[in-house]
Amino acid sequence: MIIDLQQLFDIENERVAIDYSLDFSDIELWGQCPFGSHVHITGAVENRAGIVNLAYTAGFVLSADCDRCLDRFSRDEAYHFTHVLVRELNEEDTDEYILVENARLDLDELVRSDILLSLPTKLLCKDDCKGLCQSCGNNLNHTDCTCSRKECDPRLEALKKLLD
Ligand SMILES: [Zn+2]
Ligand SMILES: [Zn+2]
Repeated sequence: MIIDLQQLFDIENERVAIDYSLDFSDIELWGQCPFGSHVHITGAVENRAGIVNLAYTAGFVLSADCDRCLDRFSRDEAYHFTHVLVRELNEEDTDEYILVENARLDLDELVRSDILLSLPTKLLCKDDCKGLCQSCGNNLNHTDCTCSRKECDPRLEALKKLLD
């Protein structure tokens, strides 16, 4: 979606609401597409005292195979983003300013990079996922196994103590 910001830049208190969906099913990350739904964008662009602000929420279903236990999981995510939009950049401006040339903002492109930069580098079914047992391959989230304790090499145990 291209947003024409001409009026927003020129008129104080001007506001444009945003509510639309994006299809990111073509995005592949770490060998899988983590988007289990369309990405729903809601928010607004607003001129407050001459400063043009974009604030939006990207809601979607994160759906992937857990990096640690390999189980398939899906959960709702909502990421919030805000940007200051400017027509020209000064040298002291930082990353938080988005340069909008010709007063036309390519929102799809911005949303895409916002979300990709915010996704975790490891997709886990839950933060404290216990993963797979290295000996028997059981998913330790579902079963308890004792093989790691039983089979621990005494030499490794000694090394562990040293490292601690
Ligand atoms: Zn997991
Ligand atoms: Zn085991």
